[in-house]
Amino acid sequence: MSRLHALGFLALAALLVAVPLTADNEYELRLFMLFLIYGLIAVGLNVLVGLTGLVSLGQAGVFALGSYAGAILAVRLGADLITASLGAAAIAAIFGVALAYPTVRVRGVYLAVVTIAFGIIVENVAIEWSALTGGTTGLSGIPTPNVFGYELSGYGFYGVLAATLLLATLAAHNLKDSRYGRAMLAVSQSEIAARSLGIDATAMRILAFVAAAVTAGVAGAFYSFLNAYISPDIFTFSDSVRFLLMVILGGAATTFGPVLGAFVLTYLPEYLQDFQLWQKFAYGALLLTVMFVLPRGVLGTAGFVLKRLRPPARGLSAADMEMARVGLPAAARGATAELVTQGLTVRFGGLTALSAANLRVKGGEIHALIGPNGAGKSTFVNAISGVYQPSEGAFGIDGEDLTGKRQHQIARLGLSRTFQNTELFGDLTVLENVLVGGQSRLSYGLADALLRTPRRRREERDLRAAAVGLLAFVDLTDHAKEAARHLPFGLQRRLEIARALAARPRLLLLDEPAAGLTTQEIGSLADMIRKVAAAGVSVLLIEHHVDLIMAVADTVTVLDYGQVIASDRPGVVQNDPRVIEAYFGSPVAHGDFAEVPA
Ligand code: ADP
Ligand code: MG
Repeated sequence: MSRLHALGFLALAALLVAVPLTADNEYELRLFMLFLIYGLIAVGLNVLVGLTGLVSLGQAGVFALGSYAGAILAVRLGADLITASLGAAAIAAIFGVALAYPTVRVRGVYLAVVTIAFGIIVENVAIEWSALTGGTTGLSGIPTPNVFGYELSGYGFYGVLAATLLLATLAAHNLKDSRYGRAMLAVSQSEIAARSLGIDATAMRILAFVAAAVTAGVAGAFYSFLNAYISPDIFTFSDSVRFLLMVILGGAATTFGPVLGAFVLTYLPEYLQDFQLWQKFAYGALLLTVMFVLPRGVLGTAGFVLKRLRPPARGLSAADMEMARVGLPAAARGATAELVTQGLTVRFGGLTALSAANLRVKGGEIHALIGPNGAGKSTFVNAISGVYQPSEGAFGIDGEDLTGKRQHQIARLGLSRTFQNTELFGDLTVLENVLVGGQSRLSYGLADALLRTPRRRREERDLRAAAVGLLAFVDLTDHAKEAARHLPFGLQRRLEIARALAARPRLLLLDEPAAGLTTQEIGSLADMIRKVAAAGVSVLLIEHHVDLIMAVADTVTVLDYGQVIASDRPGVVQNDPRVIEAYFGSPVAHGDFAEVPA
């Protein structure tokens, strides 16, 4: 944890201890407790909004679910505070999973609509299912919170709320700082790249929805104990909007932003009550002004300004360099892999982009796949990396059948790739991109992440050491702390290779890695590919640049109109009449496609 964050947590803890000592009356303390409850909702929602970039406008619905669950458990079954909260958390978690399901199909505006619909359904169920919920009259007689039979005083309950918010903020901070937070950020920036590195994007989205739901559910249970009475009209759509605003106003993806946002949006309406008629207007106008001036939210903007004033080093610190496990050999697994495809066919509607392709990449070799534009090369790569499901045929590595496996599963079995149009995680730093590449090899779990256990720290340190070594291998050490999207194009290509290597693949797929590079850059790319193969990684190289192919390839396979028309040593393929015809459109007696500009 950075020193700044540690200070933030100390300040928050001090504030939480000081407030009840200085509160003048019960009303003041109650309002502050309401803030603590809203803060809990905002901190959880920030995992969803800040890390995965998804929006939920149904949080008031989850909050209501938690409130009713907690209240019903307490009133009907006499549950204590802990049991009621855990019950509320469990029910909310189930609905969190259900809310995550639509993201398989819809995002953006459509997802927002789905979450709004969810909130409306909860409200209506609360009204209609009166036997359980008391209908429009609501549920009253919620007992004073008690723990294991001991009644909590006002201050005792305050202590529970304050400790929960502090711990939730700490847990969310640790989550962001772990493989899970990194994976969520990666998924939000390029889902296809995240999947190609072994990250289960769906699982990450479910986790984020569940985190947001569990916190809102617990907050709901707390709320019903604080209020002693709940009814459906307490949980409105405008509350959902307010919860989302808390996150955005304070600063999405920041650690303390949601807490600050919750504070402002709990107290602001209270202070604006003096304005009476103008209250709603003033509220809206203030929000609009703040968001216009500070589009990243208060703390997001503060962090941004701080970075501008004191730009962090672009390269790595001496300490980082010291621990680096330099170079490739340590990064690669060293076991060569053989890829075999049999009759691989991909159809897009009536178009057969790949037609019964048989190809064998021998262990440890550099195998080039060439062919005119539209020949089906990228389709081939997408088929064997799980992006497209082949219509027919099969493929596997070292005898293990991979047909029908999902993208992240194939990646975890040792197949890494780059993309014809680079797919970096643009807002992550160069180093973080490589960390994401290597993280499917980590084994620490969610509990380790939330609690920052020694195991998490050890694995993260090793991952970082390997990543720094890989950055040295592709000569990007001086750019390690820059955002990936600020890199010049040629360096982005190299970063993508380093990221793919971080997964320690057995087979590396490079889709036109030389496209857009200068002659000099192509030269160093050739060196890099040779070193990768020498370290025992089989390479399938899709290329247009014939010089590069001639320089590095052991075998060349030629695709034309989706069909394999030749596969042999480069010198042989170069003189194959069918290949020459594919490239020139007509047979040429002594053609040499090495001289054809790509
Ligand atoms: P290459 O990489 O060799 O240039 P591609 O594999 O990108 O060729 O494309 C092969 C053929 O398949 C082309 O005719 C292309 O238009 C078509 N194709 C590729 N991807 C899709 C897709 N997702 N949907 C429909 N057609 C596609
Ligand atoms: Mg292509």
